[in-house]
Order: sequence, then structure tokens, then C-alpha cells
Amino acid sequence: MVLVRADILAKDAQRYHYAVGAFNVTTIGMVQGVIAAAEANQAPVILQFGERQARFVPLATIAPILIAAAKSATVPVAVHLDHGLSFETVMQALRLGFSSVMIDASSQSIAANQAVTAAVVRVAHALNVSVEAELGPMQREGGPDAVDYAGLDATYTDPGVVADFVAATGLDMLAVAYGTVHGVYTQTPRLNYDRLAEIAQQTHVPLVVHGGSGLSDGDYRRSIAGGIAKINYFSTMAKNVTDAIRDRLNQPENQGVFVSELALWERDLVAEEVAARLAVFGGQGRGPEVLRMMR
Ligand SMILES: [Zn+2]
Repeated sequence: MVLVRADILAKDAQRYHYAVGAFNVTTIGMVQGVIAAAEANQAPVILQFGERQARFVPLATIAPILIAAAKSATVPVAVHLDHGLSFETVMQALRLGFSSVMIDASSQSIAANQAVTAAVVRVAHALNVSVEAELGPMQREGGPDAVDYAGLDATYTDPGVVADFVAATGLDMLAVAYGTVHGVYTQTPRLNYDRLAEIAQQTHVPLVVHGGSGLSDGDYRRSIAGGIAKINYFSTMAKNVTDAIRDRLNQPENQGVFVSELALWERDLVAEEVAARLAVFGGQGRGPEVLRMMR
């Protein structure tokens, strides 16, 4: 129906005590699955695509697909660039029509992170696009270095720099680190809710959790109560869908299945995964309300 800024959805979530689900999608089956679940629940949703995922499909190819899917959905949908790693990639996403972007310079110094985020905000806001940035940096499972769970607290967001960073950059959503990691967890995550509370006291902008797949339902609920308004969700969904497709392929009656059929399995399995998450994140029925507010 309409392509919306992700921060409009995150602010609605903040106000009505839920979290908007932000699902990474790399195939048309995944796009259709996320939209189907969002429509079935009348929930706003964010379709997102990370710069690192461009090895699956180029940004310029997937962008018009995401935008068309958002515009034809019966619920408000944002199309968000996840983890834009450079100013240049973010500019490309703006040109392609994304309604929201993340600039991730969290591995750089805070001064450098602040400078590039402020530059992105200036251009994005001129184009009516929202901006997410990250103060962390968050670690990643499956990368070159093993995640150091014992030393994770050293990489948590420092509450002392949050207010200045938000004010100096003008960002719309802030990704924060308080115990989650990217990828499939190899240890049970232990989130630091005291740290989340200290961060939330420093700013009114919606907070974002990355590495949001693989947490318990209790962790989601406590995080939402603590100020998280956008939950990034990918790895566990991708793994569960793959496992289910593998099981089905191994069944004797499916030995003649074509790859085109797999896309339909993928769509339906992704829809199941997303619906199960929306049941915990909340936001069911908020879609029509958000559309009404935007008119
Ligand atoms: Zn992330």
C-alpha cells in the first residue's frame, strides 16, 4: 500500500510497547513469506537487506523487488538497508529508493562513526529516509574470529556516549549492544538488561537489537520492555527453513521436485517463522492504525 520509513514503524512500536520485526530477505520466496505473515497478522514489518548479502543478489536487483513488494502489501512496510558499510553504499541505496538505511561504522572510532553517520543523516533526511546507526560494535558468529562470550561486556554500548552521539548525528534509530551477537549462537546468550536500561535512559530514539534471532521469548519480551523497538531477525529463520526443506526433500514422494517448487516451500516456511516471531514481538493489528495515522 505504502512504503514507509522504518523509524515511523519503530516509533509506533516504542509508543505501543511492541517491537517491529526487521527480517533480512535475499530471495523472492523470503520476501513473499515475510509479507504474507505480516498481512495475516495486520502487523507493520521491515524488509531489510544487508550490504554483506549482496553476494546472493546485487543490491540494484533486489531493491526494486523489495520496494514493489512493500507498495503492494496491505500493511505498512519499510525497505531498509541493513549494515551499510560505507557512505557510498548508503548513497546507492538512497538512489535505489530504500525508505530507510543503516550506516554501520561501529568498528571505527566514535568520532569517525559520528562523522559518517552525520553525513548520511544530512542526505537521507533531505530525501525523507530514516537512518539507523550502531554504537557497539557487535560481534559476529561465523566470522574470521570466534566470539569471546566471556569478554563480551567489553563491546557493550557505553551509555556515557549515547546522548552526545544521537544529538551530534541526528540519527533516527540506534542499534545497541548488550549481549547479543550476529549469526547462530554457539552459547546461550546472557543479555545485560541493566546495561540496556542505562542506554535507554540516555535517549528517546527507538533502540534496535541486532543478533535478535536465537533469543528466548522471555529475552524478547524483556528487551521490548527495556526499550527495544526494532528486532533484526535472520539467522535462526534461515537455518530452520533450510532444515525443514532438507527434511521434505528427503521424503520419497518429493524426489521429483523442481527448484521452482522449493521457492513455494520457502515462502510458506518463512511465513510460519515470521508469524511465530510476530506473536512474541507484538504489533498485530497495528498495520491499519499506522496507515490511518499517515493519512
Ligand atoms: Zn546487525
